[in-house]
Amino acid sequence: MTPLDDLPIRKDLRDEKPYGAPQIDVPVQLNVNENTFGIPEPVALEIVKRLAAEVMRLNRYPEREFMGLRTQLAKYLGYSLSPEQLWAANGSNEVLMQLFQAFGGPGVKALSFSPTYSMYPNIARISLTEYVQIDRELEFELSPEFVAEAIRKVNPGIVLLCSPNNPTGTPISLDVIRAAYDSFDGILIVDEAYAEFSDSDSALSLLEGRDRLVVSRTMSKAFAFAGARVGYMAADAGVVDAVRIVRLPYHLSALTQAAASAALDFAPLMLENVSRIKVQRDRIIEALKSFGLKPYRSDSNFVLVGGFDNPTEIFEKLLARGVLIRNVGIPGTLRITAGTEAETTKLLAELALLLD
Ligand code: PMP
Repeated sequence: MTPLDDLPIRKDLRDEKPYGAPQIDVPVQLNVNENTFGIPEPVALEIVKRLAAEVMRLNRYPEREFMGLRTQLAKYLGYSLSPEQLWAANGSNEVLMQLFQAFGGPGVKALSFSPTYSMYPNIARISLTEYVQIDRELEFELSPEFVAEAIRKVNPGIVLLCSPNNPTGTPISLDVIRAAYDSFDGILIVDEAYAEFSDSDSALSLLEGRDRLVVSRTMSKAFAFAGARVGYMAADAGVVDAVRIVRLPYHLSALTQAAASAALDFAPLMLENVSRIKVQRDRIIEALKSFGLKPYRSDSNFVLVGGFDNPTEIFEKLLARGVLIRNVGIPGTLRITAGTEAETTKLLAELALLLD
């Protein structure tokens, strides 16, 4: 294989590696915040039926503006959103990329508050947007004053607020989001990938009258639809119009649209395991505390836990025992996805043995 250095690749990409968590086939996979319960059978059967019908039409390009799916997404979210305010792509990563392509680029800064979702710097880099991150406050929290001051100091064109935040689990209050919005005149993206697990108010309630606010969501987490690759956003119809300029034609395949549409028709059933996952999350937090570790508060389907002397060693030993979690590189911590009751039992039992 030709080394990258010998190819006429973009200079700024030369020393970069492809992004991605390890995909290791072990019995208990709690590393990428998936919904490990899977898809309820009645929905799976309906999806297969709809996909079969679409297969017969695959000689034609899919509906480019996918108004059917956007109408369903608007209805799912509520808040009197119109289909013109909704937009979807192949995972919310692609939604974020399209936003950066439309609103970022050379001369624009994107600001986020670290530690946060590790794809943000990649998306910024790929879209030639300068990326600035400012460390969060104590316990990874954020206050309105802190965020407003940071924004005024950096003068970004894009601000990313992840709520609940990956990898810390911390929610962001609406006060913070209002203060952020009022502190600059760029695009404020609130990434609510884990919203369905959260007890906090959604930034969707702030969309009216704020035409630079974008709320990004995904079907990858609560909907147990990570493999289908469906993310979406709600915003002013003008923001959607801007994104339509940079999207590749027919980016959302007919199969993706059909599968997502079927899943949304069964939204309550698809989300039936969310409360069970939250029970396991709280169980993990309580158990970790009893082990003498320091789990951070989580409003999501995962827990960041500190207090490890050697997180890499614990990660490796758990993996050897068939339990895959995530070392996100925050000193002394590991991140654990809340799965089924059986998976949690296995995780906690193995961890207890290792710590003993
Ligand atoms: N935002 C956050 C905060 C995430 O954690 C993830 C996935 N790990 C995404 C966005 C992207 O998810 P997807 O592309 O599957 O929608």
